[in-house]
Amino acid sequence: MTVTPLQQRFLNHVSQTSPFSLGLEVGKAKGVHIYDVNGRPYLDFISGIGVTNLGHCHPAVVEAVCRQAQSYAHTMVYGEHIQEPQVELAEKIADIAPDGLNCVYFLSTGSEANDAALKMAAKLTGRSRYVAFTKAYHGDTVGAAACFGNESYRKPFALLLPQVDFLRFNDLEALESINQNHAAVIVEPVQGEGGIRLPAPGFLQAIRDHCTQTGTMLIFDEVQTGFGRLGGWFAAGVFNVTPDIIVMGKAMGAGLPLAGLLASRESLNRFAADPPFSHITTFGGNPISCAAGLAGIRSIEYDRLLTHASAMGEGLLKSAQEIMAAYPEKVTHVRGLGLMIGVELKTEAMARQVVEKARDYGVLFETTLLDEKTVRLSPPLIITPQHCHQGIDALARAIERL
Ligand code: PMP
Repeated sequence: MTVTPLQQRFLNHVSQTSPFSLGLEVGKAKGVHIYDVNGRPYLDFISGIGVTNLGHCHPAVVEAVCRQAQSYAHTMVYGEHIQEPQVELAEKIADIAPDGLNCVYFLSTGSEANDAALKMAAKLTGRSRYVAFTKAYHGDTVGAAACFGNESYRKPFALLLPQVDFLRFNDLEALESINQNHAAVIVEPVQGEGGIRLPAPGFLQAIRDHCTQTGTMLIFDEVQTGFGRLGGWFAAGVFNVTPDIIVMGKAMGAGLPLAGLLASRESLNRFAADPPFSHITTFGGNPISCAAGLAGIRSIEYDRLLTHASAMGEGLLKSAQEIMAAYPEKVTHVRGLGLMIGVELKTEAMARQVVEKARDYGVLFETTLLDEKTVRLSPPLIITPQHCHQGIDALARAIERL
């Protein structure tokens, strides 16, 4: 493979997270397409992993960003000055959230928000152990990494990590072990990086019940499921189970860095006091990100994208199931909800080949981090039936050629 000058400079000076970067040289991105530096369009079925739910450069988001950038960007560490974009976004989130979750603590990334949620649970309960699930992914800061549902990723940092008891996702009986030593149970209502795994019927409610009985806080990590990905604002609403804390990130800033905790005013007041400053963060709730996030929610509402995402998701799921029926020797499972869909291949090598072949056909898919047999489909919510058709066609052709 020839290395372009920009690729070489990237390799020289930008640190890698793994030895196998995807290497796409991005020229621009608009709507559901990313264009490489030669102007070749790629249909984006990843959305920056659930970030660009409104697609790229949505006019309402661009307008909000420009307007706020001309007004002010950063004035003080989070929580000290009153900034209208934060206030408006917090109000709006409280409006679309399940009852009782009415206050937002703004942060910058999903991992940081999970760490803050774990700290909040420790402070409010006075306990120090946690429950997380196999195949969970909550991010890479120290607290979040402790909840990594795959031992090999935790091992190099084991001495640093807080105590976490791992239970099998969807094992209802295992929930009996939740007890009064646990500060919190942290769970992705639909596991993302673990291979797009839906909760078994009653699983989330059973966790809620065990937490209530033992005074353990329930944290829903909705970094990937939040802001419309499942066809509802939050998984909590979709599954009708209300946790004590919802952790938000990714699509919250409609493409700009933004994350947060959503909880009750009362519990966030306790986090903020005695002693104060439990989790100071400089860039949390950056006003430009908040303006973008607010424009994002309003556009989802205005364009009725929740219903649209459900309809597009149902069609994609059905088409993926038809591909499985046509190639049962290659595709072993198809699962998903809304626009969070996983297509499980027989081997990791097959899944990788599907991703690479589809890219040759102009469609970007990716595997999930902890289950590399599964190819994820998570396009922007603005995807049209025609784009769905193009994506499915590329997937089918890639699988056919395996
Ligand atoms: N939680 C979940 C469920 C995630 O999918 C991710 C990112 N993939 C994170 C947390 C971490 O978010 P961030 O990369 O913004 O720290």
